[in-house]
Amino acid sequence: MASHISNGAAANGSQQTFSLRDLPKSNTFTNKLPPDAQYPTPASSHKAERSRLGPRLVREAAYTYVRPDSFGKTELVGVSKAALQDLAIDPAAVESDDFKDTVAGKKIITLEDGKEPGDTDIYPWAQCYGGYQFGQWAGQLGDGRAISLFETTNPTSGTRYELQLKGAGKTPYSRFADGRAVVRSSIREFVVSEALNALGIPSTRALSLTLAPEARVRRETTEPGAIVARFAQSWLRIGTFDLARSRGDRDLIRKLATYTAEEAFGGWETLPAKVASLEEQDVKDPGRGVPKDDLQGENEHQENRFTRLYREIARRNAKMVAWWQAYAFTNGVLNTDNTSIFGLSIDFGPFAFLDNFDPNYTPNHDDHMLRYSYKNQPSIIWWNLVRLGEALGELVGAGSRVDEKEFVEEGVRKDWADDLVKRAETLIEQTGEEYKAVFMAEYKRLMTARLGLKQCKQTDFDELYSELLDTLEALELDFNHTFRKLSYISTEDLDTDEKRKDVAGRFFHHEGLSGTAGSEEDARARVANWLDKWRARVVEDWPNSPEAREERFSAMRPVNPKFVPRSWILDELIERVEKKGEREILGHVMDMALDPFKEEWGWNKEEEERFCGDVPRYQRAMQCSCSS
Ligand code: AMP
Ligand code: MG
Repeated sequence: MASHISNGAAANGSQQTFSLRDLPKSNTFTNKLPPDAQYPTPASSHKAERSRLGPRLVREAAYTYVRPDSFGKTELVGVSKAALQDLAIDPAAVESDDFKDTVAGKKIITLEDGKEPGDTDIYPWAQCYGGYQFGQWAGQLGDGRAISLFETTNPTSGTRYELQLKGAGKTPYSRFADGRAVVRSSIREFVVSEALNALGIPSTRALSLTLAPEARVRRETTEPGAIVARFAQSWLRIGTFDLARSRGDRDLIRKLATYTAEEAFGGWETLPAKVASLEEQDVKDPGRGVPKDDLQGENEHQENRFTRLYREIARRNAKMVAWWQAYAFTNGVLNTDNTSIFGLSIDFGPFAFLDNFDPNYTPNHDDHMLRYSYKNQPSIIWWNLVRLGEALGELVGAGSRVDEKEFVEEGVRKDWADDLVKRAETLIEQTGEEYKAVFMAEYKRLMTARLGLKQCKQTDFDELYSELLDTLEALELDFNHTFRKLSYISTEDLDTDEKRKDVAGRFFHHEGLSGTAGSEEDARARVANWLDKWRARVVEDWPNSPEAREERFSAMRPVNPKFVPRSWILDELIERVEKKGEREILGHVMDMALDPFKEEWGWNKEEEERFCGDVPRYQRAMQCSCSS
């Protein structure tokens, strides 16, 4: 087992660590938010037969207490060492029955062995939410196969996480489905959660992967089950608010919003400053407000604390999606129930990193309209944020009336309505501008770094980024490999046209150009032309010395991964772990995913290079179905 524990990206110093039982735990979510009235206490849920809990509609509630189900024999096959580090779990504790049984859903670690829960005990729960799926309102969804166990705060970092199991049985939110997860989707989620985090992309995380071979899960065929223990600072989704709004549950919306600000974000005072109080647009962090010029008499808008909350959620999502675009990650199912309030990459179904650059690529086999394609991600996230704006609209639009007794208890008086709606609309629109500005600033920052530049010049966007993307698309070249390859190229290699045309070949696939990419001569000329522009910008930003070159290389490599968990690698991993019974390979791939910028991983040079090299020709741009 120990060999499957993967090294963390940054084992930064010593910190106090705990066994799972001793880990400091809390349950703020269930303490502060309203429970399902049918099972309002841990004891009432614990006593009930599991099958009596649901599925059903649950109103005026944020969650239902529900315990994990049992599955027969289980096998812990993977643990992320980075996750252990971030959760402050002692790596040695992984070998204990407490750990294995907890992450397999066999034991409720917050209860004394065999004891009934008391009302103050921390007890597992499933969240209630709804969502717009492919643009259509889908009603109540909820955690149909995720069960949260407890929250834990790392005493060193101060970060609080909510740990949950995915695939550990039915909940009141399972609807027609079985509450389980298959091995293939669990391996994918386990690896990608940790890979994204290691790349620097805000994401929900994965602690462990447990196989449950005796849980026969029916999909197109019957497959073995698995459970991922995963964690996040918050599992709230835009869909959480959508559902309350669809039911006109103002009280719940206010509670959820207050919980988000006070508990998830750590206090109202951490939210962006009122636009009115901003002196000037900060170019590095635009709009912790929009430029003053754009605000016509903004005091009229009476931006209250809920508006600042809405802006914070929009800003976080803008940054997250900028990272997706800069690293060519596609989520594939950006429904509002799969869009995080905390600004995390969340819900990994048919996700993929792009291989060849193709802006129209969607990893979702069923996404015929390309709604969730790579290029649509920034606008779809905004579309989802507008739904959130509608849910928060009354609070946002209420301006300074938001805490008045009459408004809180009775709602919007008729003669306020027009004003309120107008104010909400203006503030949502304004937040849209802020979303765009934050997205652009973050995207430019990331692309500037990936290209090894120090400054982002006005002209870079068109002349450098767009031209590069157009070239990659036209010549069907690999997106992430291109950046890594640039991290080894010195400007001396590019100082004549002949040299540039020669270097251009490094970006082609091993089998050469595809039939649709034109002649090799034209392709070399096109890449050489771009390399010349890039060289000119590098020369502008860096001194001409061997030291500066090395400095640029060591600035570029830690932002341009050598390893990215492409679909073909995940497919091979699934095949080997699930079908061939291999185990060690999972640890090796996790080592690479957790340290993606390294040159080598000390496992097997040839295999490492294969996983980092050219994507096999017929395994590029693969798609996945939603069945998982
Ligand atoms: P997703 O497409 O993964 O975002 O899931 C949409 C909704 O379906 C969520 O409410 C999930 O909890 C639920 N769901 C998906 N698969 C299952 C399953 N096997 N059992 C129960 N609920 C599920
Ligand atoms: Mg989902």
